Amino acid sequence: MTKLDDLLAYEVVEGLTEGQFTAEEYVISILKRIEEVEPKIHSFITLDTEGALSSAKLIDKKIREKEDIGQLAGVTVGIKDNISTKGIKTTCASKILENYVPTYDATVIRNLKENGAILLGKLNLDEFGMGSTTEYSRYHPTHNPWNLDYVPGGSSGGSGAAVAAGECTVALGSDTGGSIRCPSSFCSVVGLKPTYGRVSRSGLISYANSLEQIGPICRSVKDLVMMLNIISGKDAMDNTSMPSSPITVPNKSNKLNVAVIKELITDSDQEVAKSVYSTSEKFQEIGCSCEEVSIKNLHYALPSYYTLASAEASSNLARYDNIRYGFDYPIGEYKWDTYFSNVRENFGEEVKRRILIGSYVLSSGYYGKYYLKARRLRSLLRLELLTLFKKYDVLIGPTMPILPFKFGEKIDDPIKMYLVDVNTVIANLAGIPAISLPIGFSNGLPIGLQIMAAPFEEQKLIDASYELERVIDIQRRPNLI
Ligand code: GLN
Repeated sequence: MTKLDDLLAYEVVEGLTEGQFTAEEYVISILKRIEEVEPKIHSFITLDTEGALSSAKLIDKKIREKEDIGQLAGVTVGIKDNISTKGIKTTCASKILENYVPTYDATVIRNLKENGAILLGKLNLDEFGMGSTTEYSRYHPTHNPWNLDYVPGGSSGGSGAAVAAGECTVALGSDTGGSIRCPSSFCSVVGLKPTYGRVSRSGLISYANSLEQIGPICRSVKDLVMMLNIISGKDAMDNTSMPSSPITVPNKSNKLNVAVIKELITDSDQEVAKSVYSTSEKFQEIGCSCEEVSIKNLHYALPSYYTLASAEASSNLARYDNIRYGFDYPIGEYKWDTYFSNVRENFGEEVKRRILIGSYVLSSGYYGKYYLKARRLRSLLRLELLTLFKKYDVLIGPTMPILPFKFGEKIDDPIKMYLVDVNTVIANLAGIPAISLPIGFSNGLPIGLQIMAAPFEEQKLIDASYELERVIDIQRRPNLI
């Protein structure tokens, strides 16, 4: 039998219901795994050992008393540290929220708990979700489990690395411009950014509201379907959320019309491009049609994303003003003329840069030139994509244009860092769902395929990924011990 700590989420639920092991035994095996590998990976900011063990005992008691245990019973979940968890510190990897303990659970957390999931703790990210490597975390960087000298991607790097390293069964991330898909690609796990509105954002600490969604990161497509169904749905606490029909794991192969986005391939590293091309051939082997398309407005995506995301960030982060959120200065140290400006000193460099850019593009005189223009380009891109989806079921390309890179390679040049998001921001701007699926390795470094579909067509992403996952069948666990 597979080692206990290596089970997939659906295997955990099966094993538990069939009485093969107890929830407590399973959680202990995961905690042991964390103890072994966490000193190398550093994916956690807060680990809630006590909480996890007591939730496990509760599930075992329910099993003994033949009560309903829920669809995710016993599955251990790591949570990105920008999703509010009642009674557990939620820092956004920022010093400004170092001691912040939410008084309520995000809706997705309530959904998970109601279904028997066991929260393990809070996972690392770039401060407030701004970044692509976790190097902007104000606590520590997370390491890529496939090669510890390399970044795990970001901003949900803790989530990607923890799932890949087997430190939790599944994880939640958030994706504003690629933060679920980038680490999923770099860490060789499956990650999905849902359609805007499928999952409630209530309790997600905002970075850029019009772009972001919470989504699952898992080691199999089947696990991802379970997670997605549990966190999806209309929520009275989030006016932008919408009802959606549940997703199913396909029981027969579906013939899809697939299109490869030409620009995404030509602008990628050779190794990445090669791997995506050979995957597109696999699509044909499983009976799908596969053509190449060009997207005219694609080059507007990145500038328009960084304009809009920074504008929204500058407005969202205005609440950290030491009155609503911030530090308590000891009485004698309070100075009336520096009270506000001091607090901003406690943001990291990248966060400050976004606030400055965002305030600039929104300021009178520049609003029309930058912010409004970016909004128009966003609409153009969305329209072009929606037209393509009339002809094709899914659009594919590399999730990341490059392979994972070493620490320090891009941190000193913000533009270089922004450029790695060029393929992922498209889906956020258009509000469409996108998945990253592991398709192979080059020199031991993972490569991910991005598949995009029309709004609320997650089923097509799952149909495509489930089949591909089966035919590709790549190594799932890195050698860490
Ligand atoms: N890397 C992108 C940014 O820094 C995306 C981040 C995200 O999706 N949260 O904005």
